[in-house]
Amino acid sequence: MLTTADIARLFRQLAETIRAARDELCRLDGVIGDADHGIAMADGFAAASSAIEALSVEATLADQFNTAAKAFLNAVGASSGPLYATALMRAAKAAGARAEMPLTEAPMLIVAMAEGIRSRGKAEQGEKTMVDVWTPAAAAAEQGMANGLSLPEIVARVRYAAAEGAEATKSMVATKGRSARLGERSLGHIDPGAASAAMVLNVIADDWGQRGTA
Ligand code: ADP
Ligand code: MG
Repeated sequence: MLTTADIARLFRQLAETIRAARDELCRLDGVIGDADHGIAMADGFAAASSAIEALSVEATLADQFNTAAKAFLNAVGASSGPLYATALMRAAKAAGARAEMPLTEAPMLIVAMAEGIRSRGKAEQGEKTMVDVWTPAAAAAEQGMANGLSLPEIVARVRYAAAEGAEATKSMVATKGRSARLGERSLGHIDPGAASAAMVLNVIADDWGQRGTA
């Protein structure tokens, strides 16, 4: 089972990993954007994790993700704020008002987050955004579930799809977001939102990859 304690731990790990990557993400955003992406993501996940820690023990999985969404949105002024807030609200809906969910349903959280980001940002694959990571990762999650793979097997495929998706943004020209104004000059550089999305999915894969199926 994936419990509220598991989700609280996951957000602590997300906050820690993204904080450690803050300068690297700002550097990537400095090349094709405005150099604030590391700050946005680090502040967002720090706020989300703190807000989850502050919840009472009766809080449900949905409460945790909705609380994280609100905290992320309030902490982040950049465009990643509403994108991740929507992703986390979709995850809340998928997780439901319960204290735990079966591990077999956990990949649905990745699918839900990807749908939230797509519906909020209206970017398609190939536009050099975080969608180029979240969409293939969600496809890997869905396919793994359809094929009845175990959670560790599924997140291994999610991790691979995310890494490939992030790398692929190097050869894309940005047509959405701040870097779109660079046009062809965005070529050759990894998209910062794609890089951070792969980091987020790596943390999830590290955590869930150690889990069995019970
Ligand atoms: P800002 O561009 O406002 O400074 P951030 O630096 O936090 O915001 O995030 C930039 C990232 O947001 C980009 O690298 C890209 O991945 C992502 N992004 C921008 N616009 C969109 C969109 N419409 N849909 C999905 N992702 C987007
Ligand atoms: Mg930025």
